[in-house]
Amino acid sequence: MNGIVYLTGAGPGDYRLLTLRGREVLERADVVIYDYLADPRLLEFAPPTAEKIYVGKKAADHTLSQDKIIDLLIAKAKEGKIVVRLKGGDPFVFGRGGEESRALHDAGLPFEIIPGVTSAIGAPAYAGIPVTDRTAASSFAVVTGHEDPTKGQSSIHWDKLATAVDTLVFLMGVHNLPSITQQLVAHGRPATTPAALVRWGTKADQETLVATVGDIAEKAAACHFKAPAVFIVGDVVALRPSMQWFDTKPLFGLTIAVTRTHAQAPDLTHRLEELGARCLEVPTIRITPPTDGYQALDTAIADLEHYDWVIFTSTNGVDAFFRRLQHHGRDSRALGRAKLAAIGSATAKALTAYGLQADVVPGAYCAEDLAAALEPHLSGKERILIPRAKEARSVLPDTLRRWGAVVDVCQAYCTVEASENGAVLKDLLARQTIDVVTVTSSSAVRSFLSLSQAQASDLDDITFACIGPITARTCQEAGLKKIVTAQTYTIAGLAECITDWRIKQS
Ligand code: SAH
Repeated sequence: MNGIVYLTGAGPGDYRLLTLRGREVLERADVVIYDYLADPRLLEFAPPTAEKIYVGKKAADHTLSQDKIIDLLIAKAKEGKIVVRLKGGDPFVFGRGGEESRALHDAGLPFEIIPGVTSAIGAPAYAGIPVTDRTAASSFAVVTGHEDPTKGQSSIHWDKLATAVDTLVFLMGVHNLPSITQQLVAHGRPATTPAALVRWGTKADQETLVATVGDIAEKAAACHFKAPAVFIVGDVVALRPSMQWFDTKPLFGLTIAVTRTHAQAPDLTHRLEELGARCLEVPTIRITPPTDGYQALDTAIADLEHYDWVIFTSTNGVDAFFRRLQHHGRDSRALGRAKLAAIGSATAKALTAYGLQADVVPGAYCAEDLAAALEPHLSGKERILIPRAKEARSVLPDTLRRWGAVVDVCQAYCTVEASENGAVLKDLLARQTIDVVTVTSSSAVRSFLSLSQAQASDLDDITFACIGPITARTCQEAGLKKIVTAQTYTIAGLAECITDWRIKQS
């Protein structure tokens, strides 16, 4: 039986501008065929088992010719596959969606079109330029700036186009900017008309150049403005100062490496992206089952009713503990009369997922604060269980024991170096300008240095943003120079500290 091809608009750049329908088909794709403009993060919506085929398509670098792409679509659909053909922007706006759907039709294969947010509208919007506006433009046109070079004559009616439409948006026009602007002026568009180029619109590295039709080609050449960009002509460009919203975000233009575990990174990444940063997730640590085995934790779980307190020092600890409890066929009720303490609000929130409220959560989030918050609740006769990572510091159990408590520390999980990311990290440091690295634990700092094989002196240009003083001390001891530390030891506090640092820089 034949499969189906979904010609899907990937949106203009930011992967979150994919449509719900686009996501739905990606989630059940057998094959994803994508090109240069589609954000690779979209591939994460597809099942891990889906085949992902890059077919290129930068102006001059066609990894696969259009004919070959069409052959591939047909071949995969004939194999009975669900094929998602992911295209930047909208598939029918200079996306060759027409050719592909026609070929599928001729081959008698089923297909559907899923529109996307085109860069012709999305990129100007993210630059604070509306393509229409009641005061400035009641029409707009989207025009190719890259005519087929084999065509003898222009298929663009410059004489009609230049003045007929209020806003003109050219795609693929960076290279031909001098001839486009000449044609416009030659056909009656005043050289003083506001004009703008928006490169990598909607992405964290969006760049905007504002000038006039008369001088933008020269200005673009002077600053080596490169594709991909949309070129916008019209009075709407003058509205930008009052409508700018994206490239004025506090962390806009900043590249931040997020080193948390794969499961925990998105929380921080989303927050930083919301503030305008470009985030690269490179987990330097990974959570594994305890290397010493579960014996100690299993013994404690079998004896849970005899504990007065169970103390959780991380969300990983909470998850590891309850996973093990479930493994034994038990649930939260096994905690019986034990009171619960959580090191911070995130850990307390993790407990609520199991229907539990922490009895004690300190105001500041480190082991010393947790011990201090517990002190008024302890008489010195308590039995206390701390299920946590093998590598954790001993200050909490030591303090509690000094006060007379019987403390069982059990390995619930292990934090190990994410060695699989060593190459990625080295490559990032070599190729990208990383402004900030976020570190949310001492082990993340150590793993970062060991995986990157960098000397502290190689990292002088990078600011290490630490979740709290313990992590900051580890950075200092490692010889790192630029360190900023969150005031509140939470993810929100960390984002705030990076924002404050950025504001001070400017
Ligand atoms: N189907 C796409 C357009 C494909 S043609 C769409 O609807 O957006 C490729 C051109 O689109 C590029 O040369 C550039 O002009 C424009 N483009 C695509 N993504 C862009 C982006 N994020 N920022 C600016 N221009 C972009």
